[in-house]
Amino acid sequence: MSTQLHADPAATAFAAKHHRMLIGGDWVDSHSGKTFDTYNPATGEVLASIPAGDSEDIDRAVKTARAAFENPTWANMHPATRGKLLHKLGDLILEHADELATLDTLDNGKPFAVARAADIPLAADLFHYMAGWATKLNGSTISLSVPYMPDAQFHAYTLREPIGVVGQIIPWNFPLLMAAWKLGPALTTGCTVVLKPAEQTPLSALRLGELILEAGFPEGVVNIITGLGEEAGAPLAAHDDVDKIAFTGSTEVGKLIVQAAAGNLKKVSLELGGKSPNLLFADADMATAVPGAASAIFFNQGQVCCAGSRLYVENSVYDDVLQGLSDAAKSIKVGNGLDPSTDMGPLTSQEQLDRVTNYLSIGESEGARNITGGKRWGSQGYFVEPTVLADTTEDMRVVKEEIFGPVLSVSPFKDVDELTAKANKSNFGLASGVWTKDLSKAHRAAKAIKAGTVWVNCFNVFDAALPFGGYKQSGWGREMGGEVLENYLQTKAVTTQI
Ligand code: NAP
Ligand code: MG
Repeated sequence: MSTQLHADPAATAFAAKHHRMLIGGDWVDSHSGKTFDTYNPATGEVLASIPAGDSEDIDRAVKTARAAFENPTWANMHPATRGKLLHKLGDLILEHADELATLDTLDNGKPFAVARAADIPLAADLFHYMAGWATKLNGSTISLSVPYMPDAQFHAYTLREPIGVVGQIIPWNFPLLMAAWKLGPALTTGCTVVLKPAEQTPLSALRLGELILEAGFPEGVVNIITGLGEEAGAPLAAHDDVDKIAFTGSTEVGKLIVQAAAGNLKKVSLELGGKSPNLLFADADMATAVPGAASAIFFNQGQVCCAGSRLYVENSVYDDVLQGLSDAAKSIKVGNGLDPSTDMGPLTSQEQLDRVTNYLSIGESEGARNITGGKRWGSQGYFVEPTVLADTTEDMRVVKEEIFGPVLSVSPFKDVDELTAKANKSNFGLASGVWTKDLSKAHRAAKAIKAGTVWVNCFNVFDAALPFGGYKQSGWGREMGGEVLENYLQTKAVTTQI
């Protein structure tokens, strides 16, 4: 079969250029001169050579971010002006949407059509939404009744102030969007940032750095250091002059971030892994529930922290749903993300391919019944077949552990009590889905599930206004909505005797 690959020329030109990191207003090589290669996951071929930043580069970037935080140009900028810069950045993202979507396809493997329809507009929306908050970061006035000063009168109020220099470490599954989720609230609150993108997918963040300067943000407000987690991420998390660290990635590295942050007790927010339960009742509208459950796991090749990876199906419809899932999985067109007809691209790295195929063998040895898929797809690139494993049980590793690939485990349930116990039997608590036409049942389930997000008769619905984050070991704090601002602000109480 012939494939027609379409790559935006601006993106291929950007990918091929000599890449540098952003410190202040300058694009610089790593001080060591070292670089590392990134790969196109659809082909396994080298895509770009990226500066390998280390603790010295991080230190320079943190000093620059500190100076920018204290510089009146940023510190005293009118909130409305900050809002305008954020709006401008959102607009620039939309102007360069094809280029940015292509960069994420080249780096991450995801279908261009998906990046163009979801990742890029959501990233732009986030900046547009956050722009509005810049002028609404108000404190409050507070009435005092100090017991040992019965006759005194006070005027007391709070100020909401930016927390300072922020380190942000992001993963590779939604490269531009994760950068936006992190940068948006930091910039609207007046913080300054050192951003470390994932080693697999730095290109769209570097292009975003150019757009940030073009939008008119003062030099040093955003600094971007590329590099490996251990070499560039770890010194950022440990740095004594960083006031806050925001991390998205694995629960394992999240725990390392918390330890590294202890040195200067910097504030920490974490968006970590998941093993999200998806509950499908017999009274659901099957025409939306079955494709919905398939898309909940197969979207973005299953490389989604909130993927609906554990599906629980009411007994009476179990076999029909398995048949529907199998049909849905088989109808997914796997291929190069630059082919407009592709539904599912490759996994992002050789490491992920090894990890996911290892879980497929584990599932087989644990006795999960393979309904469809179960193997690597093709021999070039990092593709895996959309896979459905049935009759899985709570003790299986494929049910307990985050696979981060297109692998769904499905098991039947009899009643709601059994279902809730199973759904909540996880160290994670990021998201969940409920499929039923019975509103009471849906809202009872929504209350019973221990997770930061519950989707009813839908899945993977994101909006800049909706807070997103985890219960249990899925994280600390929330991304997006008004709530994310708490991560970047601190409160000062001012008391005057009058
Ligand atoms: P990861 O290691 O947690 O990577 C996330 C980010 O942290 C990357 O920028 C990474 O840099 C950096 N990092 C790694 N080690 C660090 C350290 N010691 N100190 C500071 N920063 C560090 O995730 P991964 O290895 O790419 O993926 C492994 C698994 O994590 C996946 O299979 C999946 O289960 C989970 N994951 C979850 C999410 C999510 O959205 N919740 C996203 C991605 C992955 P490098 O790029 O150099 O490693
Ligand atoms: Mg890693």
